[in-house]
Amino acid sequence: MKEYLIAGNWKMNTNIIEAGNLAGAVADKFKDVSSDVTLLVCPPFTNLSAVTSQLEGSGIRLGAQNCHWEEKGAFTGEISLSMLKSVGCDYVIIGHSERRALFCETNDTINKKLHAILSHSLTPIVCIGETLGQRESGKTFDVLVEQLTMGLKNITPKQIGNIVIAYEPVWAIGTGMAASIEQVDEAHNKIREMLISQFGSVADNTIIQYGGSVNENNSSELFSLENVNGALIGGASLKVESFMAIYNNALVQV
Ligand code: PEP
Repeated sequence: MKEYLIAGNWKMNTNIIEAGNLAGAVADKFKDVSSDVTLLVCPPFTNLSAVTSQLEGSGIRLGAQNCHWEEKGAFTGEISLSMLKSVGCDYVIIGHSERRALFCETNDTINKKLHAILSHSLTPIVCIGETLGQRESGKTFDVLVEQLTMGLKNITPKQIGNIVIAYEPVWAIGTGMAASIEQVDEAHNKIREMLISQFGSVADNTIIQYGGSVNENNSSELFSLENVNGALIGGASLKVESFMAIYNNALVQV
C-alpha cells in the first residue's frame, strides 16, 4: 500500500487557546475517518502541550517546526529534542525555506539537526526546494541535488526509511500558486531517483511530500502521482474543513 503523510505546518499562527481549539476540531473530525493515512499537526512551540492534550488518544501525530541539535546548555531561545520528545512530538520539520531564507539555516546545520533528530528516534521532515530565480535559470535539479547531498550527509540506507522529504518549491509556498502537476511529477521522480542512487532500493519507500499552496481542489491530482506521498500544508492546515478535505483526498488513494 502506498504511504501518505498529511502534515499541517501552523507556522507562527495561533495562541494557546486557538491552538487547542483547532487541534480539538481536527481530532473531532478525524475520529470519523479511517487512519490508514498518517495525520500530523505542527503548532508553534508554545502551543505543543495544549495541542498534545487535545490529540490524546486520537491517533493524530504531533510535530515541531524546528529544533536545536545540542542536548542542553547555553543556547538562548533554542529548543532541544529531549524537550520536544517530552511534550509528545514524533516529528520535526527542518530546513523549511522560511528558516533557510530568514534565519540563515544552511544545509550544514540542517544535517546536524537531522542526525540529532534520528538519534532521539523522532522523524525528521527535511524540506528542500528551489527559488523562482533558480527554476527560471534551469538550476532546479542542481539545487535539489545539493540540498539532498549536503542535507543527508552521513545518513545510512537504514536511516533513510525514517526520514521524510518535503519538496517545497519556494515560489509556491504561501503564494496560492502551486507548482503544476507536471512540475511536481518531474521533481518528485527526480528526488526518488536521487535517493535510490544514493541509498539503494530502500528509498523506494521514503515518503516524499509536496508542499506549496496545497488545497482541497489541487490535492487529489497531486496525490495520484506515483512519487507524491502526501503534503506539507501551511495556510490550508489552519482551516479544519480544508485540512480534512485534503486528508480525505489522500485517504481515497489507499
Ligand atoms: C508550508 O508552510 O510549508 C507551505 C507549503 O505553506 P502553504 O501551504 O501555505 O503554501
